[in-house]
Amino acid sequence: MLTVNIQGLRGGKPYSKTVANSIAHAVNIMSKKLALNYHKGVLNIHLGRVTNKWIDGDAQGTCIGEFKDGQWVIDIVLARRKRFGLMLRTLAHEMIHAKQYLKRDITMIRGFDAWRGKIWRIRKKADPYRDSPWEREAFNRELALARYCKKKMGLENEDLSV
Ligand SMILES: [Zn+2]
Repeated sequence: MLTVNIQGLRGGKPYSKTVANSIAHAVNIMSKKLALNYHKGVLNIHLGRVTNKWIDGDAQGTCIGEFKDGQWVIDIVLARRKRFGLMLRTLAHEMIHAKQYLKRDITMIRGFDAWRGKIWRIRKKADPYRDSPWEREAFNRELALARYCKKKMGLENEDLSV
């Protein structure tokens, strides 16, 4: 089972109980949709406290997965936004990365990044961020996943546009 914890940036309490509850609800819906529930591990969602304070310089979210002691530990960091729809969309993007770890779409082969069993190297001139297969998948699927979740949560008026 995937245990979900919603917390502050460095553990501790998230800045808002209401937002944390909505995020927990959204994680649940997305986990079901992506069929992640039966993987063994812990999914920590860290919510930023300061509105529009980006993670690692310029990211609205990050996702890192590590398999240790027989289970997954996945950490998603989500920047605080004024508009919940933006957090929902970023969460959808990061949940797709979580899926990529859990289903072993992303692995390492002889120290290289690999995608679905094949070593992946960046082509010259390509954008290493946008052009990797894992980012392409996340960008291609984030809106549909966020829309599905928004509908399930009854947030019809929430704006998902970036
Ligand atoms: Zn990404």
